[in-house]
Amino acid sequence: MSGRPALQGLAAAAALLLALACGPAEEPAPQRRWNVVLVTLDTTRADALGCYGAPGDPTPNLDAFAAGGVLFERCAATSSVTPVSHASILTGRDPYAHGLRVIHAGSSWRLAADVPTLVDALGAAGWRTGAILSSFTVSEHFGLDRGFDHFDNGFGAGSFETTDGGKSTWPTRRYQRRSDRTVDRALEWVEADGEPFFLWLHTWDPHDLQMLPPEDVVRRFLPEGARGTRPQPGAPPLEIYRAEVHWVDAQLGRLLDALDAAGHADDTIVAIVADHGEGLGEHGWLGHRLLYEEQMHLPLMMRWPGGPAGARVDALVRSVDVAPTVLDLLGLPALPGVQGASLRGLAEGRPEPPRLAYADQLNAWDTNGHVAELRPQDDLLHVLRDRRWKLIHKPTQPERSELYDLDADPDEAVNLYRADHPEAVRLLAELERRDPFVLEPFPEVEDPTGLDGVDDALRELGYTGDEDEVELEEDGE
Ligand SMILES: [Zn+2]
Repeated sequence: MSGRPALQGLAAAAALLLALACGPAEEPAPQRRWNVVLVTLDTTRADALGCYGAPGDPTPNLDAFAAGGVLFERCAATSSVTPVSHASILTGRDPYAHGLRVIHAGSSWRLAADVPTLVDALGAAGWRTGAILSSFTVSEHFGLDRGFDHFDNGFGAGSFETTDGGKSTWPTRRYQRRSDRTVDRALEWVEADGEPFFLWLHTWDPHDLQMLPPEDVVRRFLPEGARGTRPQPGAPPLEIYRAEVHWVDAQLGRLLDALDAAGHADDTIVAIVADHGEGLGEHGWLGHRLLYEEQMHLPLMMRWPGGPAGARVDALVRSVDVAPTVLDLLGLPALPGVQGASLRGLAEGRPEPPRLAYADQLNAWDTNGHVAELRPQDDLLHVLRDRRWKLIHKPTQPERSELYDLDADPDEAVNLYRADHPEAVRLLAELERRDPFVLEPFPEVEDPTGLDGVDDALRELGYTGDEDEVELEEDGE
């Protein structure tokens, strides 16, 4: 007790020093007014990047970025469809907590209006906010525009820019934009007045085959002797996929170089993360909507002024950790209700309690996908995992659930599930505590956006499961 007055005196002195250091007390300014650039790479598997082990130097710009910042070796997605996963990145919440559960259904395809986002927090604190995006699947239809001063994805305005010259047999290009054009628009927006700014840049190219990089880029990735066409239907379009990832890398190189040239290396947080990966034939599947690691393992890398350079974090982290990390680095209050947590400690080499990662795919209730018809065993999927053990729980057919030891079996080839396996019991108990299950179709509600052409847009982006053939033209564009 005798020490209390002295401690109080010390505390008062410390508070005074803190107040002096932070400026006038009436100004609750954040600690740092750094710019924020969030890049989301659609459909980009971690192992498609050189810094995650891809051979052939496909992504020199992202590799250099990672070498100058921190790379997270094991980042998990919350979903393998675009709007659901992006809602998690923007809110720090798992899908059951942000309300955007499927692409298309009677309801629950829209971010819940009362869920705060990263852009809400930054806009309220005085950041200029802009989203420069590349596909309908991150549009205002899904509520992902909320809070942005500037929201540029073209849909509804009839202005989706293309560089294809009309060579595709699909009109898909009305609903997507190639990353060279997206980066051009982003650079224009960044160069306009107003700092600090928050830019969300989204790239789409590897999602499908409907909009290709210039032909000379594609040809570099085609097998010896290939002439003019992509691989035949039924064969994994691996070469095109690699070419598209490489093309995105080149465009992001332009963005990062421009940021550096403008001095933003010293005043900007840059976070680069994917929304999901892509099945390229593993587990008998091309595309996403499943929850195996080819869909779920994301690249995640970050850089901030004074932050670690060349760090690699081996712990399991999640896309829901990105928004909390940004707010933590800026000294802004955390978003309420998040499942994510700041990655700063891990990035700076401090030990932290292990994290659990959640994901789901409500394929049975998504009226725009055919997964539940094609793969009835994958109608409703809920994942909970730690760094080693991964449970894929199937609530309507629990006997077909899957359990993988990712240390011993990273390709998820050996299903160890049995109802009394201790790891399955442990992970299922935590899943049930969270209660993310949806056992009936979502009820019909009126579309609050009133956008015309939603069904056309989804069909043209390939969400009906149709396949298409694209000829590579000699002049590329
Ligand atoms: Zn996506």
